[in-house]
Amino acid sequence: MQYESTRGGVRGLPSAEAVWQGIAPDGGLFVPSAPVTVDRGALKTLMAASYRERAVALLTPFLSDFSPEEIRECVSAAYTPAKFGTPAIAPVHKAGKGLYFLELWHGPTCAFKDMALQFLPHLLTRAAKKLGRREEIVILVATSGDTGKAALEGFRDVPGTRIIVFYPEEGVSEIQKLQMVTQEGGNTAVVAVRGNFDDAQAGVKAIFGNKAFREELRNRGYTFSSANSINWGRLVPQIVYYFSAYLDLCREKEIRCGEPVNFVVPTGNFGNILAAYYARQMGLPVRRLILAANANNVLVDFIRSGRYDRKRHFYKTLSPSMDILVSSNLERLLYDVTGRDTARVRHWMADLQARGRYEVDAATHAAVADVFWADFATDEETLATIKETFAAFGYVVDTHTAVGKAVYDKYVAATGDGTGTVIAATASPFKFNASVVRALCGPEAVTGKSEFELLEMLSAMSGMPIPAALRHLDRRPVRHRLAVAKDGMLDAVRRLLID
Ligand SMILES: *Cc1c(COP(=O)(O)O)cnc(C)c1O
Repeated sequence: MQYESTRGGVRGLPSAEAVWQGIAPDGGLFVPSAPVTVDRGALKTLMAASYRERAVALLTPFLSDFSPEEIRECVSAAYTPAKFGTPAIAPVHKAGKGLYFLELWHGPTCAFKDMALQFLPHLLTRAAKKLGRREEIVILVATSGDTGKAALEGFRDVPGTRIIVFYPEEGVSEIQKLQMVTQEGGNTAVVAVRGNFDDAQAGVKAIFGNKAFREELRNRGYTFSSANSINWGRLVPQIVYYFSAYLDLCREKEIRCGEPVNFVVPTGNFGNILAAYYARQMGLPVRRLILAANANNVLVDFIRSGRYDRKRHFYKTLSPSMDILVSSNLERLLYDVTGRDTARVRHWMADLQARGRYEVDAATHAAVADVFWADFATDEETLATIKETFAAFGYVVDTHTAVGKAVYDKYVAATGDGTGTVIAATASPFKFNASVVRALCGPEAVTGKSEFELLEMLSAMSGMPIPAALRHLDRRPVRHRLAVAKDGMLDAVRRLLID
């Protein structure tokens, strides 16, 4: 399989190059140059397979310059029952008739980004080896909380890599901070920045863009890379769990093999739902992809009108991992639905860059609206849905998953569609415990309680154990104490790598 840029400037690259480069030199995103299809027979064969076996079978055609043995090694290192607490890796929970939750939060940081970030480091280091790169890979991340922790867990102790995460000192929750400063692993570093998230992000960008500093580090045997969500190596492992969920439903005789289902995906950067779209393109029987957004509903407007307009108010919501106004991965969808028309994609992306908006033609809009249905939920609706879902099914969902459920209810009300539906559960309720306890017991139940008391309360109410990753976090030794001013980030990197 070869890879090309959505903007037409590069083609014919092996997947190892696409993963290594992350973003194409023309500013576009890498996409496979030919379709991959999975026929009914192959689906049936995978029904009895484990998550790991399914992953190897589905990833191999996309990563054909890697040997099956290399892919198997990456998959085995990423998806261990020890790290995910269950051999199912991404189990499907049946809530009611025709309603299922695909639990993507069993990984080490209790959210779905582990599904990709446990895999990417192994693929990236093998890609580097294949390309004859000898330098040690240094991953730099600016985080507002969750991605940084997921990247730390993914890269920890992966040979040939180092990871340095910058977080805004006052911009993350108590639990998020403790998760990061207690991070283990011989190759991890966590640095507090005296500033906000934008300062940390700008600092990382400036380091990436500093040619002299990159050169200095290259001479010392280091090269920078990013674990960015637009990297193909992060997207491709997400295709696997949509197949896996479908196969589980077939195996459990919840559906007939071949019968279509809907997927509901709580969406921010359009990565997770794009993976579902690719699964559908590969032949997975999917009727509708239901995009669920919070008050930052830029994608809902796009799917309804064909107009993308990022110039709008930015809301801080109770589902913070979906607080996004520029959904980078949408570019890959546009490339696909226009029949790979790189000229049109370039034109729209130039409009977005210059004016903060673009509008697609009627045929492109119709192609999008044919597959996707979209709506959003407010914070009030999100909290009400957590309570209702617990009352109806005895099942506790986090705020992001609740956005999915709320939008699914709107979908059923609007369409009457009774097709079996799988909602992607993107985070453990324990990860957003304050909002979840508030939804279940009212705001007074939360007042004056520490995050750790809230974990205990939630465990008692839901009957679910506190995830190992969050338990006793306050008793673990602090391993990272470095704090720098926002103009001191480059020096911190130099000190961590060279001195
Ligand atoms: C990142 C994230 C999302 C959004 O996923 P995208 O791929 O960016 O659309 C949803 N829920 C949770 C919990 C997340 O961490």
